[in-house]
Amino acid sequence: MTATLDTPAATESKPTFESLNPANGDVVGVHPIASKAEVDAAVARAHEAAEWWGGLSFADREEYLLTWRSVITRRIAQLAQLSHLETGKPQGDAQLEIVMAIDHIAWAAKHAKKILGPQKVKSGLLMANQASTVEYKSLGVVGVIGPWNYPVFTPVGSIGYALAAGNAVVFKPSEYTPGVGQWLADTFTEVVGGRPVFQVVTGLGETGNALCTSAVNKLAFTGSGATGKKVMAACAQNLTPVIIEAGGKDSMIIDQDADITKAAEAALWGGMSNAGQTCIGTERVYVHEKVFDKFVAEISEQAKVLKAEPGGLIGPITMPSQIGIIKSHIDDAIAKGATVVTGGSDAVGERFVQPTILTNVPENSTEITEETFGPTLAINPVKSMEEAIELTNATRYGLAGAVFAKKNGVDIARRVRSGMTSVNSVVAFAGVPALPFGGVGDSGFGRIHGPDGLKEFTYAKAITRQRMKPLMMLTSFARDAKTDKNVATMITMMHGGKKTLK
Ligand code: NAD
Repeated sequence: MTATLDTPAATESKPTFESLNPANGDVVGVHPIASKAEVDAAVARAHEAAEWWGGLSFADREEYLLTWRSVITRRIAQLAQLSHLETGKPQGDAQLEIVMAIDHIAWAAKHAKKILGPQKVKSGLLMANQASTVEYKSLGVVGVIGPWNYPVFTPVGSIGYALAAGNAVVFKPSEYTPGVGQWLADTFTEVVGGRPVFQVVTGLGETGNALCTSAVNKLAFTGSGATGKKVMAACAQNLTPVIIEAGGKDSMIIDQDADITKAAEAALWGGMSNAGQTCIGTERVYVHEKVFDKFVAEISEQAKVLKAEPGGLIGPITMPSQIGIIKSHIDDAIAKGATVVTGGSDAVGERFVQPTILTNVPENSTEITEETFGPTLAINPVKSMEEAIELTNATRYGLAGAVFAKKNGVDIARRVRSGMTSVNSVVAFAGVPALPFGGVGDSGFGRIHGPDGLKEFTYAKAITRQRMKPLMMLTSFARDAKTDKNVATMITMMHGGKKTLK
């Protein structure tokens, strides 16, 4: 393995960068900054490897992927420790995202054949003489650019599904978590006997840009919307298709018949776990006014045990530049009239941010309108579920969300404009491998996970095979007037009835 923990990369005069432990600034690893030429070379190797990997049967690929899944499972403590060091998140949280990623790899491996393999479709009356099939072919090489907040679960949502669909992968992990990315590629490479089916190129934004303009056949990006726009622009040069998994401003909606204790527990975890650095984390909470006071009292009580500290339930803020953004959102909310229930402006330290709960937060404050990505919750009362849905949807984001309600939970969930909603829990959809994951609006487009996630890394191939002579020869210059008349009669019989314009 290269450049993990305390093994400096053997890069000599080549440029390198360090990944740091955000809890104390210690150097966790030193990694090369891959140049444009190095990225292009990796993609060229990947194209060769894709010939082999894409040419395997679904069953063979399944076996390799399930072996990889077992290797990760057996070494889960090692990977969790590395993620803990690079992100600062507690080891238990690091393990949890790896657990979910493992389940996704297994699901993608086991379902690829059924979802992507040749399937018969009905040819219809006009083409009744044809046998029709559709199948989903691998694209070749998929470039993946990942964030740091869930350095295993998030990229594996693209990598695992792209590999299961028969593609080779070149992955540019976040500069904050390069060791985790390298670990994933190294273990997969062991499983496939050293073939460069899944490679990592480490570096900063420029290396990511080089991957966008390389000869990849598709680029799966997860990160901020601002970088997503740059990725799209760079990919446009070669007409490379992209998936964008960007940020969110998810809400939790709480109806008057909800279990308030459970809702508070879920909102607290949804908002504060991983120090609030979760794309599908809860940032806003809209509570029916009849249970608002009860909810606020309950969540404040539950929040008392939470502390952000080394070894605590809440870790440090991974990216130092985020600290100022979190503080500015809290300050803006307070300046515009929000009430501080716990935490507040002083909660923002140099590396750690203490849990901050604000109520009656003006809807025009950045705490409501922008992604905060810190351990804060904005809790506002609403007169009705109509108002809760309206306020939830009054954002340019549309990633996920949650609803707590006994009677109308699913109805409310359907009306939220977002890619995913959990009713009476938080983020449950992320752990269901058969469900698609992705957003709308500024949260991006395209889907990872589930059948949609497998198809995302393929192209559809349609084939018709003429199995008998056609009743009427339509695609020939020999078609005569009688055939034209028969076609007109037939289409009228098929589609001309019932629904007519008055
Ligand atoms: P970021 O946009 O700063 O960086 C993401 C990746 O893009 C990194 O690997 C970075 O090196 C790379 N990059 C930077 N500039 C680039 C360029 N010009 N061209 C190509 N690549 C470039 O995001 P981040 O801070 O790492 O991650 C946090 C963001 O990710 C949050 O907004 C969060 O909501 C979002 N996120 C979304 C999901 C999702 O599934 N929707 C999941 C996790 C995180």
